[in-house]
Amino acid sequence: MTSYLALTSEQVKKAVAAVKKSKPVYAEILDFYGGVFDAQEDCKGHIDLEPLQLSEDLQTAKARGKLPLIEIEAFIYDEAESANLFLNLCHLASGANPKLSAAAEIILNAVGTTLKPAVLFTGLLSGNEALFENMANELEIEKPVIGFFTYNSLKPSLCACADQLAVYLDQEEPWLQGYCPICGNAPILSLLEDEGRRKLVCSFCWHLWPAKRVHCPYCDSSRNKDLHYFYSEDEEDTRVDVCDNCKKYIKTVDTRKVARLIYPALEQITTLHLDIKAQEMGFEPGIRLFMQV
Ligand SMILES: [Zn+2]
Ligand SMILES: [Zn+2]
Repeated sequence: MTSYLALTSEQVKKAVAAVKKSKPVYAEILDFYGGVFDAQEDCKGHIDLEPLQLSEDLQTAKARGKLPLIEIEAFIYDEAESANLFLNLCHLASGANPKLSAAAEIILNAVGTTLKPAVLFTGLLSGNEALFENMANELEIEKPVIGFFTYNSLKPSLCACADQLAVYLDQEEPWLQGYCPICGNAPILSLLEDEGRRKLVCSFCWHLWPAKRVHCPYCDSSRNKDLHYFYSEDEEDTRVDVCDNCKKYIKTVDTRKVARLIYPALEQITTLHLDIKAQEMGFEPGIRLFMQV
């Protein structure tokens, strides 16, 4: 287990409080996200999932082919707890910024009549974008907002599935690919550790896996001439790795330089200024950002 990570609700709360202090510009946004993280951590303690099992043959075949263990559709979730979290997140958003708050009100009114969270959950896991499109048109709110509430309600179950499945990964041979060994999604963040080790964080199931130090996870380039990074002023602990080959970027937190514990979703939210900078420089994020509204 990685010692620099915030794992308990209490540790997550402390990490949020520390960032509010060190980056006051994010204090307001963290009033909302702090509540989201709390609700998700609380949900984690209540979810009840059937064990996910993979046969030995399948494990061997997956490892040999460098294939992720499961497809997104195969993730399971606690329907009652996720639906409960969906309502909690909407209530939390009612007190957030006007745009989110108005959308949350509309969604809350629609739950129980036209909108069933379980339908959204299935839609997200089966990649049914049309469902989100139709729902957004019907309710006259933006599609990413519905995606945000849906994804974040499923997230505790997704993380629990990833934790369960991690036991099936080959412990001897590091994965070293630019996509998640559990679910195949692209990384949202990278973390530098002691002795030059680097890990990538999955944008979907939040699993951490070892990565090559000099490598673009999005196009697989390891050429020094393609790969550069920049820091923002006064912020030594986070940098942006950019790739001239595919024009994508990933934010990298240097865990050795951060005094507080790291909660990857918190790092993602409180480095949005680096996303803006990277995009101004002509680079694109390597993933579709569920978390950004
Ligand atoms: Zn994953
Ligand atoms: Zn690249």
